[in-house]
Amino acid sequence: MRFVLASNNPKKLREMREILSELGVEVISQSEAGINIEVEETGDTFEENAMLKAEAVMEASGLPAIADDSGLMVDALGGAPGIHSARYGGEDCKNDAERIEFLLRNMGDTENRRASFVSSIACAFPDGRRLTARGKCEGLILKQPRGSGGFGYDPVFYLPEFKMTMAEMTAEEKNKISHRSNALRDFKIKLEKIYSKE
Ligand code: IMP
Repeated sequence: MRFVLASNNPKKLREMREILSELGVEVISQSEAGINIEVEETGDTFEENAMLKAEAVMEASGLPAIADDSGLMVDALGGAPGIHSARYGGEDCKNDAERIEFLLRNMGDTENRRASFVSSIACAFPDGRRLTARGKCEGLILKQPRGSGGFGYDPVFYLPEFKMTMAEMTAEEKNKISHRSNALRDFKIKLEKIYSKE
């Protein structure tokens, strides 16, 4: 079985390939499938946005397609930035460092620093079947960034269990506990069930 990943991000492609190859599933990029589409994320949830991307790529390629959508949810901000994580702060925030600064300013000295990274994975099959999976990783938002690894909000996302921010972890350490790897594991279990029925 071949799946198209609704992304041209090489890091995502490698992660998906590693986990799904155990099921005998081959994952190819949009460009390998000969398509190049940019899907507008108009949904209200991570699940909806992931499914919008998967369905558009499945329709364009005629092959089963997988997409993911992820972001940071901060308790004290009522779940923000959520689905807007990549564009948090709008035009005023041009890069990850500025988005972190904006986040810290919005949180101020609030005592409740609890937050979670969330990842949703959606899969659309040409025969109409749909599959979604979700993963979470809980942590605390520090008052100042620490570490230089990872991307996005990693430098302020602290994991008390490991006494490190995600930006202080190696990629291997992060991949073991991240929201994306948790979602991928859930996805793999659901996909295995589909295959065992065929
Ligand atoms: P996307 O789902 O890859 O588009 O990610 C949405 C946004 O959520 C990213 O641009 C980051 O700001 C944030 N984000 C998602 N996953 C992570 C992560 O593992 N570390 C830090 N930030 C993340």
